[in-house]
Amino acid sequence: MKVIVIGGGAAGFFTAINIAEKHPDWQITIVEKTNKLLSKVKISGGGRCNVTNGRTAASELVPFYPRGGKKLYGLFQEFGTAEMRKWLSKRGVNTHEEADHRVFPATNDSQTIIDCFLQQVRKHSITIKTNFSVLSLRQTEESWIVRSSSETLQADKLIIATGSSPVAWKTLQQTGLEIVEPVPSLFTFNIKDARIKDLMGIAFGNVSVKIVGTKLDETGPLLITHWGLSGPAILKLSAWGARELSTKNYHFQILINYTGDQSADQVRSNLNDLKSSNPKRKLSNHPMYDIPKRFWERLLEYCEIGSDLPAGELSKKQINKLVEELTQGLYDVKGKSTFKEEFVTSGGVKLSEVDLKTFEAKRFKNLYLAGEVLDIDALTGGFNFQACWSAGWIISQNI
Ligand SMILES: Cc1cc2nc3c(=O)[nH]c(=O)nc-3n(C[C@H](O)[C@H](O)[C@H](O)COP(=O)(O)OP(=O)(O)OC[C@H]3O[C@@H](n4cnc5c(N)ncnc54)[C@H](O)[C@@H]3O)c2cc1C
Repeated sequence: MKVIVIGGGAAGFFTAINIAEKHPDWQITIVEKTNKLLSKVKISGGGRCNVTNGRTAASELVPFYPRGGKKLYGLFQEFGTAEMRKWLSKRGVNTHEEADHRVFPATNDSQTIIDCFLQQVRKHSITIKTNFSVLSLRQTEESWIVRSSSETLQADKLIIATGSSPVAWKTLQQTGLEIVEPVPSLFTFNIKDARIKDLMGIAFGNVSVKIVGTKLDETGPLLITHWGLSGPAILKLSAWGARELSTKNYHFQILINYTGDQSADQVRSNLNDLKSSNPKRKLSNHPMYDIPKRFWERLLEYCEIGSDLPAGELSKKQINKLVEELTQGLYDVKGKSTFKEEFVTSGGVKLSEVDLKTFEAKRFKNLYLAGEVLDIDALTGGFNFQACWSAGWIISQNI
């Protein structure tokens, strides 16, 4: 049996290795359009490769996938994060989990994962062809014909693991698969605003951010950057809102509640209590709600509250303005920036095109798809790679 895996990335390698283990007598070839293998694995996780996540239950994993979500439940039950860590450990790669549940190789070096995969490829005599860019696919009665500019290959079974390549999506569309238009996910918001100007590096523990005119609403840490705002709260919004924000051309408004979950009435009442119980206290020296001091001072300045003003002299107008800024600060977002280059693409081959029990295309026999080529994407935390490992494993067991 001849198998061709198109794409020498995470999903392609993992699928090929597991097929080879299950079917030692099959002839497996990975074709890769560049001269580099596993290049995204190399740069992933800042060079450390956040290979998976420490959460293990499928029900805990699914909420991290804006595209895919519940449909992936069975996938993670069959081959989840714990199975991936066991898989690596069995092949000599130990992993460790950090406090936020991200899992890395114990060496903290992505090369460890690459070396492991390359060793497995050699062990199972998998053929690798680099500089082989697939230009067209054709199914005949008996097999698949894969053509590059210089060579034509034939395979009984074909695995597509081309990642987020627009050219490959076009080829798949021409083959007859339906594609959800790709848009970026995981980006930060560009904001030019006096309230955050020159305050890059300031971080907030837990804020709530809403996108005006949508249902998008997230809580979590927030970070002021050179270009605007980032941090988990923003990245979650960018992932869940990837499609909607693209239609807005990344121009929209956000409302920030710096207190996390306090209502305007609660904050007003706290400020009035402070005014009567500590009338001499200078507000500028006592940031509330764990707000970093530099930002607190900036907000007071923005609300025209002098740094020497004692709490007892706060006017009703000043209190109202501060309440608004703390619970419903309105900011204009104009554009997006890439988060540490760790963008992923939302979109790809429609999930309804594949049988999720096998990852075989429903309308094309002997054609399987894994990884970012599919319309699956996740938040940061090792979830994007996990989607590659889980699909690759299921293909290998069912092909
Ligand atoms: C900077 C960065 C850091 C990241 N860090 C993490 C992380 O730490 N943890 C995590 O979970 N996720 C991370 N991600 C996301 C993760 O890298 C991807 O989700 C994952 O690599 C997708 O794997 P894939 O095999 O589907 O695609 P890729 O890894 O992109 O592989 C696809 C391969 O197919 C090849 N190809 C494309 N078209 C053709 C063709 N026509 N013919 C032949 N070959 C072709 C490409 O050249 C490529 O080598 C990161 C992403 C980036 C950009």
